[in-house]
Amino acid sequence: MTDVTPSFDAATASAAYRSALQVIAEVEPRVAEAIGAELADQRDSLKLIASENYASPAVLLTMGNWFSDKYAEGTVGHRFYAGCQNVDTVEALAAEHARELFGAPYAYVQPHSGIDANLVAFWAVLAQRVEAPALQAAGARHVNDLTDEDWAALRHALGDQRMLGMSLDAGGHLTHGFRPNISGKMFAQSSYGTDPATGLLDYDAVAARAREFRPLILMAGYSAYPRKVDFARMREIADEVGATLIVDMSHFAGLVAGKVFTGDFDPVPHAHVVTSTSHKSLRGPRGGFVLAQPEYADAVDRGCPMVLGGPLPHVMAAKAVAFAEARRPQFTAYAQAVVDNAVSLADGLTRRGARLVTGGTENHIVLLDVSGYGLTGRQAESALLDAGIVTNRNAIPADANGAWYTSGVRLGTPALTTRGFGAAEFDRTAELIVDVLSNTTPTSTRDGSPSKAKYVVDGGLADKTRAAAAELVATHPLYPGLELS
Ligand SMILES: *Cc1c(COP(=O)(O)O)cnc(C)c1O
Repeated sequence: MTDVTPSFDAATASAAYRSALQVIAEVEPRVAEAIGAELADQRDSLKLIASENYASPAVLLTMGNWFSDKYAEGTVGHRFYAGCQNVDTVEALAAEHARELFGAPYAYVQPHSGIDANLVAFWAVLAQRVEAPALQAAGARHVNDLTDEDWAALRHALGDQRMLGMSLDAGGHLTHGFRPNISGKMFAQSSYGTDPATGLLDYDAVAARAREFRPLILMAGYSAYPRKVDFARMREIADEVGATLIVDMSHFAGLVAGKVFTGDFDPVPHAHVVTSTSHKSLRGPRGGFVLAQPEYADAVDRGCPMVLGGPLPHVMAAKAVAFAEARRPQFTAYAQAVVDNAVSLADGLTRRGARLVTGGTENHIVLLDVSGYGLTGRQAESALLDAGIVTNRNAIPADANGAWYTSGVRLGTPALTTRGFGAAEFDRTAELIVDVLSNTTPTSTRDGSPSKAKYVVDGGLADKTRAAAAELVATHPLYPGLELS
């Protein structure tokens, strides 16, 4: 089997971290201690959080240096500050690696997170499609030429724009036009869901909604949908109604980079703009980036300071290292293993009687409907955590328990795959999960109705499972050979 974990020299990395912690401890030993404790906790945890991963020591070490001190507003070669030649080097490298990795004509690596990447993209579409014509109408060539009245008219025009995105309970993201987020205040929003019978995206229904609603932006992408999305079809829908297609691949960027999602399922050739995080399945530093077709490049470049604070050069440097890692053949093997493992986990759960939203998975996510165990997502999440299994509760389509308690638990394979877990380990994980859930019962509230939050796990099972989970993670140590003392 190809090694899917990032390789590093354990003795060198150990020496680097030991020295770094010693330097930190000279100022505030409790922080150094907490850093060590975090490694221990991560090592001990059976982590099934679908949005988390473990970056390589090379990626992590790239973030701790003097690049952090540099202001670098602007773009490569056009900075508002002097002395940015080295920042230029790493930002250009990160962008080049991103373009090559994803086959994209243009990449912007400054966003600090996935949400920031979306803001840049939304702004870019407004600037390209609304602001430019508004400027022309006002007889102005540049935003700076606009009068207060022009701006008022522009704000009105911007406020009237529409966004169509995947509904939250079908797995969409808060930033895809939902009211608690700025995207829901910038845009009038409507959403598409999944087919109630199959749990799958119904592209004809998306098209019908788009024809009716005529959005400026059609959003695609998800945080909790366990299937591939046909981006070629989404582009057809966008084109038919004159919308700009933005695909937020935050969750599955690693599967795009690792060539698991190709052809119609690769967002890059189909979307006008692609946004992403760099720290989820892609296994890079915490951050975001934007890929775009050439006509959106100038508007995307204005991301900072239009909607972003100054770029983080140390993180852009780490993106360059992570993208370089993702261009290695090893990463393709990793991405395939992530999906193969999700299938093993899904099969293991289904075989033991669990119900999965859509009946299975085609990506790194398994969405478990826990209502069959008489539990809410919150109870299931807590009971699993008591048993040493780290997951997060998640709404399922038409969730009877709402977005807080929920009826689902989301499981993901990227992190444990990085540790080297394979089919056997994920089958064992499925066994542990079903064991815990089948032996958990809600406790009653004072009026005798079942609580949505309180529960009991049958005597001793939580402890027993925690020991079994610890045994399982011990077989695939995180950062093998890395010792802090
Ligand atoms: C995780 C996620 C984000 C947010 O990323 P942050 O880096 O936490 O800002 C945005 N969109 C989708 C689809 C996500 O899954």
